Order: sequence, then structure tokens, then C-alpha cells
Amino acid sequence: MAETLLSVHNLKTYFYTDEGVVKAVDGLNYELHQGETLGIVGESGCGKSVHALSVMRLIPTPPGKVVEGEILFQGTNLLKLPEDEMRRIRGNRIAMIFQEPMTSLNPVLTIGEQIAEAVMLHQRLSKKDAWDRAVEMLEKVKIPLARERVRDYPHQFSGGMRQRVMIAMALSCNPSILMADEPTTALDVTIQAQILDLMRELQKEFNMAIILITHNLGVVAEMADNVVVMYAGRPVEHASVHDTFRDPRHPYTWGLLHSIPKLYERKERLIPIEGQPPSLIDLPPGCTFAPRCPFAMEVCVKADPPEYPVTDDHYARCYLHSEHATEEEKKVAVAAGLAASTRGRRV
Ligand code: SF4
Repeated sequence: MAETLLSVHNLKTYFYTDEGVVKAVDGLNYELHQGETLGIVGESGCGKSVHALSVMRLIPTPPGKVVEGEILFQGTNLLKLPEDEMRRIRGNRIAMIFQEPMTSLNPVLTIGEQIAEAVMLHQRLSKKDAWDRAVEMLEKVKIPLARERVRDYPHQFSGGMRQRVMIAMALSCNPSILMADEPTTALDVTIQAQILDLMRELQKEFNMAIILITHNLGVVAEMADNVVVMYAGRPVEHASVHDTFRDPRHPYTWGLLHSIPKLYERKERLIPIEGQPPSLIDLPPGCTFAPRCPFAMEVCVKADPPEYPVTDDHYARCYLHSEHATEEEKKVAVAAGLAASTRGRRV
């Protein structure tokens, strides 16, 4: 069994606003092992990015705060580390890339200066060695003429090339974990496939773990070993990628599978999930998905469902898998899960 790198236990990150308390992440659990890719999936605003910022300890405080939980990185609780020790982990042992590289790259410094600066800070290399490392990393992410391009500024690169530069910068310190927040969303489909291929290739070479944050189950199918599906700040299904696509158990996951865009289909054939996610300030008392769920039962609006085990490593937070559902309701659920998985298998 590969080493456990990161264990997130009952993570709760809230924002205290004039309108009320926004429960952006409300009880997230997972484990991440060396060399593994974990996909964290959900619509925008479901808490997946806030969770990443919580792990990196980048939540703006106030108004945000991690109010409960543990984030164990190789056994050390990151939430208890002094800021100077956290700085040695952030960008070094745990690196992050974002959807829009321009927000993370400094427009007035060359790419080489930016990579070299990160390497000098974390790895204590000389200026010359750090510069050589910048060239080497640009070669690794397949930037043509790396030795010359290292002197260019961010605006001189295309969107896809800038994302390659971000990956080069993130991996320059040889991190154990790469957190990638919608890394290909802004790119066209061909470039997206190239970036995903590159990430997979470098993951093998560096033997690192990846946390892939995305709204796109198609990207997860390509990349992930395990998947956490989030809805309204909470994990609603947790399974291997195989089970997520072959035997999905939560109605929200079924909705996501039906709404995966496919290249060969006309957009009108997608079945969107009806309705909007609830306000995170004013969550309904029962299951947060109940107002949008075609399978909602009486119990669903009364109390939040716990996680029900489907197998040893597959959980769904849904009463359809409990004694609260009748045999008939369970049958309907099996048929709906099958239809969703048939759709998912064609991704
Ligand atoms: Fe739907 Fe009820 Fe399951 Fe929630 S608990 S997803 S409302 S069936």
C-alpha cells in the first residue's frame, strides 16, 4: 500500500459575512496516497476550491476560518503549524496550479526569473543552478527552445504554454502533492488533452500525488483513481473512479454523469440538473440536494443523511441506501443509477 500523504478529517471552513455564516466546506474527509490522483468534483460554489485553499492555509482570515477538522500531511497537522513552517511546505512540498495562469504569474518578471526565485527560496540553490533548473523544467513541460524562451515574459506565451509554465514552476521544487484547480477549463479541447497527458507523464516521473479539482467528470474519468463528489460544501459520494462511473449511488452523481459534455453530441442532448444549489448561509434542514432531487422521500427533508457504505471504499450520503427507502424506491434508484452509469461509460 502506498504511503498516505494527506488525510483530511471533518474539515469545516466557514466565512463570517454580514448576511450570515457561509458554510463553504462542511465536513470533508478523504485520504490521498503517494502516486494517486484524487478527483474532487462538483458545481462551482460547492466548496472544492475553498477546500484547496484550506489545505494550503490560504483562506483569508477574516472573513474565512477553518473552524474544525484536521489536515494531516505526512502525519503533521497543517492547521497547527506556525506560519514560517507552513511557508516551507506551501509551494515546496505541496504545490498548486490554477485555471488562469496569468493570475499567478508576475507579468513584469521573465519566466526564468519566476521559476528560479521559487527554487532559490525553497531549495537553497545558487542563482546559476536555479536558472539551470528553470531551463530543465521548461524542457520537461515540452516548451520548445526552452533555453531561449526562459527569458520571455508571461504575455509572450499562449494560454496552453502558460499552463505548461505554471506546471513547470509548481514542479520545480519536486513536490509530493500537486493541487490542480480546474487546470484545463480555460483551454480548448486539444490543448486540454495535451496538458492532461503532460500531467500524467510528470506524475509518473516525480511519483507525486495529484488532487484534481474540477466540475468536469470527463476530466476525472481520464485522470483520477478515486473521486469525491461534493455538493453544497459536503461530500455526497466517495468511491474509486471505476465505481463512480460503473456503479454511482448518489442522485447528484447521476445528474453530473448525465450532464457530461461530449464532443460528438449536440449540446441540446445534455440533461442538466434542474434547479440551483442552495444558499450556503441558509441550508435546508434535511439533505441539501432534496430541493433538486427527483427521488426525494419524506425523510430527506427532515434530517441530513449520514454516509452509507456501499462497499468498504464506496460511500454515498443518501437515504436511498438505507432502511428508510422501500423496496420499490430502491428498485427505481437502481434503474436510475444504471442509466447514469451507461451514460458515464460512454465518456
Ligand atoms: Fe435525494 Fe433523499 Fe438521497 Fe438526498 S437523501 S439525494 S433527497 S434521495
